Order: sequence, then structure tokens, then C-alpha cells
Amino acid sequence: MAKDQANLQNPTEQNPKPPFDTPMQAEPGLAKYMHPKPDHGEDSYKGSGRLKGRKALVTGGDSGIGRAVAIAFAREGADVVITYLPQEQIDADEAMEVLQATGQKVAAIPGDLTDEAFCRELIAKAVDELSGLDILANVAGKQIFQESIADLTTQQLQDTFAVNLYAMFWLCKYALPHLPAGAAIINTTSIQAYQPSPGLLDYAPTKAAIKAFTEAFAKQVVERGIRVNAVAPGPIWTPLQPSHGQTPEKLRKFGANTPMKRPGQPAEVAPAYVFLASPESSYITGEVLGVTGGNHLS
Ligand code: NAD
Ligand code: MG
Repeated sequence: MAKDQANLQNPTEQNPKPPFDTPMQAEPGLAKYMHPKPDHGEDSYKGSGRLKGRKALVTGGDSGIGRAVAIAFAREGADVVITYLPQEQIDADEAMEVLQATGQKVAAIPGDLTDEAFCRELIAKAVDELSGLDILANVAGKQIFQESIADLTTQQLQDTFAVNLYAMFWLCKYALPHLPAGAAIINTTSIQAYQPSPGLLDYAPTKAAIKAFTEAFAKQVVERGIRVNAVAPGPIWTPLQPSHGQTPEKLRKFGANTPMKRPGQPAEVAPAYVFLASPESSYITGEVLGVTGGNHLS
């Protein structure tokens, strides 16, 4: 993918490989200060009307996977609302510039998803902006590496669960009354749900819970004609990682332990969300789609 969506390319030779020397950042990190710059598909993603007329809310849409998903959705013909933390306005401005150029209706609504009231208000505002809602992409997430359980504070434990799990739960709950038959929810789990790292003792369980929630919720809402799936990325080059998602040593080698020996770029993950949002995947629900560079979801 990356620079060219259509032509034959060797995936092992696409995109940057370790070693990396991007600086560590405070959380939440900004794509703006990463090098190499993550590829969100700005120059490469070509739409073909696969989401024409659709109305999408994308959380974490300022940067990383969320930005790539928002760009792909808009280029496929969807109107898109993105949400992100107020501290990420610089990245959100960059994302919005690309989104506005699509000519679709787009809007940016900053706020903190760990606040249930904001989640409720966000759904109401998105429905208002888009005159409805039929795609919910829950992409926002928090990951802070801690070598030992002794260093993992109760505050971090609660925050990680709130961003990754509670916010997704609240957004699904408040969105559901608005979703018509044919709507799609796409959650973001991780290879960490299957192969948890010792330094992600809080994060990995949230991703396992997201997988279980996705499977259970898919069965609950199937009768309404709503599909619920999840994407499970492997290592992806986003601001989550240099903002203490990894140790500096692990960040240097980021992606080296995949069969492709490199991290994925956000632009390589977005097509999975497009597929799961579009009616092309009409017989797929309660599924987890891995985008891992070859490591197994097992
Ligand atoms: P990212 O930092 O670009 O995106 C995460 C986003 O979450 C931030 O941009 C921010 O807007 C949002 N967020 C965090 N806390 C929030 C809060 N309290 N309120 C509102 N928004 C908040 O990084 P990313 O890697 O693109 O992450 C997107 C998703 O992908 C996350 O769920 C992450 O767990 C998942 N994921 C990432 C990787 C990876 O290697 N990058 C691998 C597997 C899964
Ligand atoms: Mg961000």
C-alpha cells in the first residue's frame, strides 16, 4: 500500500524499517514530531465510492490509525466526524486539512472520552453534524509500557481501562439508538489480545476485553441488522509508541519481530476498516481482522 494502492509491490520492501530514532514524547504523542512521519494515506489512498453517502464517527481521528481511517472513509464518499483530545489540536488540524479537501462534510469535536457525559454528548453532536450515524469506528486508545507491576499505578490501570474499554462501551451504547439496519461498528483490538507483552499488563487485558465485547455485542445486535467487528493491528508506526507505549530500546527496534521485519503504517491498516464498514462485508460480524505483518492472532 503506502505510496501506491494498486500496483504490484513487495510488502517487505515497502515503508521504513528499524532501527528508528524518533524522539520520545509526552502522552498523547503527536504525529507532527515523529520521524519518519507516519503515512496516513494522505498521498496514496484512492477511494472508489465504497462508502458513498455513509455517516461515520472516528475516535482518535487526529493521528495514527484513526487519521488514516478518517481519510479513507472520506475518500470513499462518507461524511466524517473525528474526535481527539484537545492537546492534539495540531495533529487534528493537519488531519482536517486533508479531510476538508475531499469535499465531504467533515467536523472535528475534541474532548475526553474517559468522561461518560462527553461520550453521550459526542454521539448527539455527531448525529447532528451528519444528520444521522451509520459507522462507528472506535480507534482511540492508551498504551503506557511498565516493566513491572510494582510501577503500574492504580491511576494508570483505571485510565487505560477507561480510554480503551469504557469509552468504547459508552459510545456503542449511546450510538445504538441512532444506528439503522446496515450500520457497522468497528472496534480496535490488538495482537496484544492474543500474544500479550509482559510490559503491557493493563493494556493487553483491555484489548482482550474489546475482542470479547465485539463478539458478544455482534450477537446482541445482529437482529437489528447491525454488524460489529474489530481490527487487530500488530506494530504500527503511530504516536502511541514514542509516547511511552514502548521503552526507548524497544522503539528503536519497533516492528523487527514481525515476519515482515518492519512496522506497518497507518495507511496499511485503514483498508481493513473500510472493508468492515462497507456492505462488501455483509456476511461478516463478530470477526477480528488481523493486520500484523504476519504474526498470528492465536
Ligand atoms: P494514536 O496515538 O495516533 O491514536 C490514539 C488516539 O487515542 C489519540 O490520537 C487520541 O486522540 C485518542 N485518545 C487517547 N486518550 C484519549 C482520551 N482520554 N479521550 C479521547 N481520545 C483519546 O495511536 P494509534 O496507534 O493509531 O492508536 C489507535 C488504536 O490502535 C488504539 O486503540 C491502539 O490501542 C490500537 N493499536 C495500535 C497499535 C500500534 O502499534 N500503534 C497496535 C495495536 C492496536
Ligand atoms: Mg493523536
